Amino acid sequence: MRSDLDYLVPSSVEEAVALRAASAGAAYLLGGTDLLPQMRAGRKAPGQLIDLKRIPPLREIRETADGGLSIGAAVVMADVEVHPAVLGRFPLLAECIRTVGAWPLRQRATLGGNVCNASPAADAAVALLALDAAFHVVSAEGRRSIPAGSFFRGPGQTALLPGELLTDLVLPGGAAGFRGRYLRLSRRKGMDLATVGVLVGKSSGTAPDRWRIGLAAVAPTPLRVAAAEERLEAKGAAAAEEAAALAVAACRPISDLRGSAEYRRDMVGVLVRRGVVELG
Ligand SMILES: Cc1cc2nc3c(=O)[nH]c(=O)nc-3n(C[C@H](O)[C@H](O)[C@H](O)COP(=O)(O)OP(=O)(O)OC[C@H]3O[C@@H](n4cnc5c(N)ncnc54)[C@H](O)[C@@H]3O)c2cc1C
Repeated sequence: MRSDLDYLVPSSVEEAVALRAASAGAAYLLGGTDLLPQMRAGRKAPGQLIDLKRIPPLREIRETADGGLSIGAAVVMADVEVHPAVLGRFPLLAECIRTVGAWPLRQRATLGGNVCNASPAADAAVALLALDAAFHVVSAEGRRSIPAGSFFRGPGQTALLPGELLTDLVLPGGAAGFRGRYLRLSRRKGMDLATVGVLVGKSSGTAPDRWRIGLAAVAPTPLRVAAAEERLEAKGAAAAEEAAALAVAACRPISDLRGSAEYRRDMVGVLVRRGVVELG
């Protein structure tokens, strides 16, 4: 890793975006738990680091007018997972975040960094997909909102344009009330990325019940299985087996040091079935 790196600490979003626009080789920095290991390994070599942690609006969690929640990109996961509104209205997000590394890591790692890094195994991203989150971004060209469902493009690839800065992740009020389980397999009890992650969520406040099925580490991006959700909404938990088969059909796992593609596919079926039966 270079030792002559410029380290810039803007105090506003506008300043950060201007710094980035002036330097094509710069990278935004949050907790650094993805970026710094990648730099040490020589996989990324930014000329400058633009640290976003001192920008107050990026560190806020705010209620929105429609009963949703806006979570600043620089809020650390440890603060998100214990926030009363997250625990009360969006517990699926806390359920996924609690599986990320360990508590000390989550005091540093942010939700914004988890999605911008776009690992196929990003645990928090699965909940954001399931909850129809919108990602608000800004650049020198202006502001826009990207639905979570079109944000992830491939391993390490997102819909962000060069220089775009993620400001906040917004959970819509209409997604409140989902409860469920994130069933996650990894190679050991300590810190390890997921070999397979399966989120099963259900909201019983409406007729029919609404369901959510999300997957991590079994495709080039975290994903949601709409076909399985629709089958469960039509037939209820009696369709657990069919939902499991649809999830298996939707995944595109690879074989790597954490597990074979065949194992991952089998476990998606087992965990979707188990989660649906548990939520009943
Ligand atoms: C020991 C260890 C264990 C881990 N275990 C897990 C795990 O179990 N599950 C899991 O999902 N992850 C895990 N991770 C990965 C990591 O902790 C998360 O992905 C983390 O949330 C990244 O957030 P960060 O704040 O550290 O981001 P950073 O590393 O600061 O940034 C990540 C990327 O996003 C870009 N970026 C940062 N901010 C912005 C912005 N506002 N706009 C646009 N781009 C931006 C950066 O340039 C960089 O490319 C682990 C990491 C370590 C080191």
